[in-house]
Amino acid sequence: MTQCLFCEIAAGKIPSKKVDETNSLFSFRDIHPQAPVHILIIPKKHISKLSELTAGDVQLMGEITAFANQIASIQKLTDYRLVVNNGAEAGQTVFHLHVHLLAGRKMNWPPG
Ligand code: 5GP
Ligand code: ZN
Repeated sequence: MTQCLFCEIAAGKIPSKKVDETNSLFSFRDIHPQAPVHILIIPKKHISKLSELTAGDVQLMGEITAFANQIASIQKLTDYRLVVNNGAEAGQTVFHLHVHLLAGRKMNWPPG
């Protein structure tokens, strides 16, 4: 995959405020935070969006959830929101799968 912003961030070729990483995942602060805590969690492997996941990625999605919970626990967050925008109309602007972890303020529902 050429010229993917989040592949480059995961590889350390573009700087980011790293939070944590595992063999398969990377997490970093969103550049335009929408809440006091706004962390992005990405697979190091390029997957363009949630709907591109296949049966072989079931474990990866489980790892992402567990990783998000671990980050929240380390940051002493009890209440937080995980968001995935799938496709442009749903708000996706970077086409490398990412989960937003948002916390630190009262969240509105439904989202706009
Ligand atoms: P999406 O709208 O695709 O669900 O979310 C993409 C997110 O990536 C946005 O919240 C945006 O602020 C963030 N973002 C875009 N470019 C960069 C960047 O270069 N560095 C970081 N840390 N975040 C970025
Ligand atoms: Zn990528």
